[in-house]
Amino acid sequence: MNTVSTVCVYCASSDKCNPIHLQSAYDLGAIFAKQGINIIYGGGSTGLMGKLADGAIASGGHVTGIIPVFMQNLEWGHKNISILEEVKDMHSRKLQMIRRSDAIIALPGGCGTLEELLEAITWKRLGLAHQPIIIVNTNGFYDPLITMLERTVQEKFMREEHLLMWHTVASIQDVLPAILNAALWPKGALDYAKV
Ligand code: AMP
Repeated sequence: MNTVSTVCVYCASSDKCNPIHLQSAYDLGAIFAKQGINIIYGGGSTGLMGKLADGAIASGGHVTGIIPVFMQNLEWGHKNISILEEVKDMHSRKLQMIRRSDAIIALPGGCGTLEELLEAITWKRLGLAHQPIIIVNTNGFYDPLITMLERTVQEKFMREEHLLMWHTVASIQDVLPAILNAALWPKGALDYAKV
């Protein structure tokens, strides 16, 4: 069984989505806090990002936000989290979020969340990241993306083994068990990164 002390969460900045997603983010923050698991995320105050942090902080959790200077200058950063670190740009933020986490979770979101998720999967394929990647498919939100990823395998743009890079769960209650039980990703993944 895997051990986990810090999770990276990618999720939406939007407040205008279906409230079920906002509630899920809040509840997931609380789940991690109650298990003593630290959260690292993009540091935003709005949308699922803000709710995730609020849920964790309300349950006594430790939350680190990593935010690019230009966003902080716009006062997009959460004002009530354990640590808010400013970094020079988006690339630095994403590097820190992957490097410092034992697992990666994607809740629903827009292009920012999708880009972060696909970057993490790509790094895993290349052997640059090894942690479990959990896609939270609330209300089937991620069905089209999962179909697309499977198609990349069907059309030989990726290998069958690459389907093991991510795990899909139906709800936030399944996230922690999925992390703990995820198969280890081999250190030699680069050897079969090519099709
Ligand atoms: P999206 O899923 O498109 O809402 O994007 C979420 C991601 O985009 C975050 O992880 C950030 O990289 C970035 N982002 C977009 N808007 C904000 C915001 N208001 N505050 C912080 N980060 C944001």
